[in-house]
Amino acid sequence: MVKYDTVLIRYGELSTKGKNRKDFIRRLDRNIRYMLRDFKDLQYKRTYDRIYIKLQDEDPEEIAERLKKVFGISSFSFTERVDSDIDAITARCLEIAKETDKKTFKMLTKRHDKTFPMVSDAVNRHIAGVILDNTDLQVDVHNPQLLIRVEIHENDTYITSDKIPGAGGYPAGINGKVLLLLSGGIDSPVAAYELMKRGIEVEAVHFASPPYTSQAARDKVAELARLVSIYQGRMKIHYLNFTDIQLAIYKAAGDPYAVTLMRRMMFRLAEMVAKQNNCLALGTGESVGQVASQTLSSMAVINDVIRIPVLRPLVCFDKVEIIDLARRIGTYETSILPYEDCCTIFDPKNPVTNPTIHKSEYYESKFDWQTMLEKCVAAEETVTVRPETKDDFL
Ligand code: ATP
Ligand code: MG
Repeated sequence: MVKYDTVLIRYGELSTKGKNRKDFIRRLDRNIRYMLRDFKDLQYKRTYDRIYIKLQDEDPEEIAERLKKVFGISSFSFTERVDSDIDAITARCLEIAKETDKKTFKMLTKRHDKTFPMVSDAVNRHIAGVILDNTDLQVDVHNPQLLIRVEIHENDTYITSDKIPGAGGYPAGINGKVLLLLSGGIDSPVAAYELMKRGIEVEAVHFASPPYTSQAARDKVAELARLVSIYQGRMKIHYLNFTDIQLAIYKAAGDPYAVTLMRRMMFRLAEMVAKQNNCLALGTGESVGQVASQTLSSMAVINDVIRIPVLRPLVCFDKVEIIDLARRIGTYETSILPYEDCCTIFDPKNPVTNPTIHKSEYYESKFDWQTMLEKCVAAEETVTVRPETKDDFL
């Protein structure tokens, strides 16, 4: 039996150079170790373009499931390490060929160590010859059913016949921090995932309106944050109590402008929290045209109150695509739990789809919102969630 004893990890986005590249690799290495932290016996080795993990008796399936969730990995393979010696290499390749039920194969050798006495092509031909002589396999160079890869380094050679696609993107955390407005809905957790994929560390802010919104609704947000935190390690949530502001908005503006004003206040609050926590941008799960507050003119009026950039990774996604992604990343089932959100609680009957800055400012001039915002931020509660249990990874 071929015993895979090493995982070979390839990096994505290789255009990153110099110091960035170093940071990329260091962060990726850290994130991988964190993801596999409960496997205590793994041994790691980092080189210029690969990370190797030496396995003991761990379940490869379980390791694979976790590695698939680490951003920055372009692909990985389970390999067997042998000494860099042509006979040892050939013997192992032959074993793989004998064990397979495939009909065609191809050898693919990469000679990283240029002092190895045979060039790659000679290695390919030598091993292929032995396999042809000792099995029924045929060579197919264009579309082989079995591709045996051999990577020759100075002392170690890695042999593999699989290549598992990784999650791609950048290692979570190398591209700065964003404060994501996290609701209990379907979209914002997916936005968190997309931001993390670009290497951004995501911190969350949630607006709750107790007693109109319940503890269960708040718990649901924490659970969503925990589910996506798998992709970056942990996540901080800032809970803001939005009740007084929301009541004041309804009193000052009435129904049609309530949503516009609410969202302007949310953005102002989020900008304040972002500044206090070194977040360089806000993030939302908005998608153009989805609801009244997400028409382009609404977005313009809402965005007008802040200077900090707003990243909207789902801006051009269809709802169907978003739901699909939510299912894939594992947040959908939690997102559709029927808890009230502060935006829906007063349920405006006919929100404006074409609000103006002028009118928004007029309604806002009717109450002292600045003081309310300061009070709200001063009273924030912060919670950090982590993916804890083993099942979370699967
Ligand atoms: P989602 O599914 O993310 O809730 P949605 O389609 O329901 O989005 P809205 O309710 O208009 O759309 O919210 C748009 C965005 O505003 C959300 O994606 C989220 O980023 C932010 N948001 C909405 N409600 C809240 C809240 N209570 N706390 C924090 N952010 C919120
Ligand atoms: Mg919502």
